[in-house]
Amino acid sequence: MSRNFIPRAVVSASERRRRGLLLLGAATACCLLLGWQAYRAFYAGYLANERQLSAQRLDAFALSLEATFSRHESLPGLLALDPTLAALLRQPADAQRVAAANTYLEAAQQGAAVAAAFLIDPDGRTLAASNWRLPYSFVGHNYAFRPYFRDALQHGLGRFYGVGVTTGEPGYFLAAPVREADQVLGVIVLKVGLEAMEQALAGAGETLLLTDADGVVFLSSERRLRYRALAPLPAAVTARLAETRQYGSQPITPLAGKAIPTTGNEPLAIALPGEISRDRLIHTRPVGNHGWQLVQLGDPSEARAAALGAASAVAFAAAFILGLAAHFRHRARRREELRHVYGELEKRIAERTADLTEQIAALESTKAILRETRDAAVQAGKLAVLGQMSAGISHELNQPLAALQTFADNAVALLERGRHDEVAENLQMISSLVERTGRIVRQLKSFARKEAPTPHPVSVASAIEHALILVEPRRREIAARIEVAPLPPGLQVIAEAGRVEQVLVNLLRNGLDAMTGQSQPILEISIHREPRRLAIKIRDHGPGLPEEARHHLFEPFFTTKPAGEGLGLGLAISLTIVESYGGTLSARNAPDGGAVFVLTLPAAGETDAPPDA
Ligand code: ADP
Repeated sequence: MSRNFIPRAVVSASERRRRGLLLLGAATACCLLLGWQAYRAFYAGYLANERQLSAQRLDAFALSLEATFSRHESLPGLLALDPTLAALLRQPADAQRVAAANTYLEAAQQGAAVAAAFLIDPDGRTLAASNWRLPYSFVGHNYAFRPYFRDALQHGLGRFYGVGVTTGEPGYFLAAPVREADQVLGVIVLKVGLEAMEQALAGAGETLLLTDADGVVFLSSERRLRYRALAPLPAAVTARLAETRQYGSQPITPLAGKAIPTTGNEPLAIALPGEISRDRLIHTRPVGNHGWQLVQLGDPSEARAAALGAASAVAFAAAFILGLAAHFRHRARRREELRHVYGELEKRIAERTADLTEQIAALESTKAILRETRDAAVQAGKLAVLGQMSAGISHELNQPLAALQTFADNAVALLERGRHDEVAENLQMISSLVERTGRIVRQLKSFARKEAPTPHPVSVASAIEHALILVEPRRREIAARIEVAPLPPGLQVIAEAGRVEQVLVNLLRNGLDAMTGQSQPILEISIHREPRRLAIKIRDHGPGLPEEARHHLFEPFFTTKPAGEGLGLGLAISLTIVESYGGTLSARNAPDGGAVFVLTLPAAGETDAPPDA
C-alpha cells in the first residue's frame, strides 16, 4: 500500500511543479494581454474624451473669433454713408475736405475701437486715414493690389487678413464702397487688430493655430509658429501671396518636416521648429466661411499616462484575482490530498487492526491451549505430589503401625503367659510409637495449613533467640557450637513471629543434622541488609548439598535422612511460609565446604521497639 502511495506523491509533486510553472506563465501572459487590451481601451477612451474637450474649446475660440469678425462686418458700410467721405472723393484736392475726412475717420477708428480706418479712391490711393497724424500714415499709399479693395469695388464687401504693408502689423481688413446715388466713388477700409485674440490664444496653455484657406498660420498661441504653412505651398499660391503682399515680405515655410493634416484621429509624430519630433493629437475646426481653420496640436502623453495607470490597475487586479483563484485552488487540492492521505491511513489502520485482531485471536487461542496445558500440568503435579505424599505418609506411618501391631500382639501373648514386666515394656514402646505417629501427623497438618498470613513487624533478634532455644537439646546432643554474628539492634522484618521461628528451627536443625558425628561442629548465623529487605544466612560445616539433592531440596517429602528421622517436609514448608511474606529461600554450597541457606524477608525499618513476642 505504502509502495503505491509514496511514488504517486513524488511523481505528482514534480508534475505539479511543471504544471504550476506553466500556469504561472499563462497567468502572466493573460495579465499582460489584459493590461494591453485595457491600455488600448482606456487610451481610446481618453483620446475620445480629449477630442470632445478639444472640440468644445475650439468651438469657444472659433465662435469668439467669428463674433469679432462679424461684429465689425457692417461697420464699413455704415461709416461709408457719411457725406464727408463722398465729399472728399468728389474733390480729393480740397484740403478742408481732407481734414474733415481725416477727423471723421480718426473719430470712427476710436469709436469702433479698430486699428485703423482709411479712405481709398477708385485708383487705390489713400485720400484720408485715421492715422493721418502718425509717421506711418496710410495717406498717399496705394492699396489697389489688396484683394479687399477689389472685392469691395466688385462685390460690395471686402474681407482680408494680411500684414500691413505700411505698418508691418497684421490685421483683418474690412472694406465697403462709398457711393453717391448708384455711383461708387471710393472704398472705406477698417483694419481690425487681432492682438487681443492672439493673446487669448497664447493664454490657452496649448498650441493653437489659426490658418487661412492656403494653410498659412496667421494667428498662433506661439509667435514662432506664425506665418508658417501646414504644408509646402504650391507655386501659384506663393505667387498670389507675393502679388497681394498678404504677408508682406515674410517667407512662408512649412511648419513641420511633413504636412500636418487637418483630419485624423491618431496621434502623429511632428517636429515643430526648434523641437524634436513628438506625438501630437491634431484637432481642427473651421472658422467663418473663408476656409480658415483653427488647429490644435494636443499632447497625448497625459492620456497615455492615465491609460497606463488604469491598465496597470486592471493588470494588477487580474493578477490578484488569478492569484486568489490559484490560492483557493491550491487549498482545495491540499485538502483533497489530505483527504487522500487520511483515506490511505485509515485503510492501513483498518488493515493493521485486522492483522492485530487476527494475531490477538491466535494469541487468545494459544493462551487457551497454554491454560489447558497448565491446568493439565497442575493436575498432573498435584497427582504427583499426592503420590509422593501418600508414598511418604504410608512409608512413615506403615513402619510405626507395623511395629505397633507387633508390640500389641507381643503384649497380648506375654499377658497370656503372665509376663507382666515385658507387657509393660511393650506398652511403653507402643506409647512412644503413638507419640511418633502423632508428630508425623502434626507435621502433615502444618504442611496442609492454609491460613491467610497476617504479616507485621517482627524482631529478627528475638526470632533467632527463640529458635536457638528450641534447637538447644539437639545442639547439646551433638556438642555443636552456634556462632551468631553481632546483630544491629532493632532489625525487623514483615512476617509472623511463630512462622519465622519455625523456618529458622528447620534450617538450624538441618544444619545440626548435617554435622552429626563431626568432631567440632560449628553453625554460623549472620544478618545482611539488602535493599528493602533483610537476609538471614545460616551456614554449617557439614558435607554440603549433594548435587542430585540440590534440585529437589524444596520438594515435599524429599529427604536423604534415614526412615523415621526425616519426613522431607521441613524445607518445603519453610519455602511456602517465606514466599507467603514475599520473601525468598535459597541454598548453595560454601566454597570451603558446608551448606549455606539464605532466607530473605521484607525489612520493616529499624526500630528500638521491644521485639514482637
Ligand atoms: P528432612 O530434614 O525431613 O529430610 P528437609 O526438607 O528439611 O527434610 O530436608 C530435605 C533434605 O535436604 C535432607 O534430607 C537433606 O538431604 C537435605 N539437607 C537439608 N539441609 C541440609 C544441610 N544443612 N546439609 C546437607 N543436606 C541438607
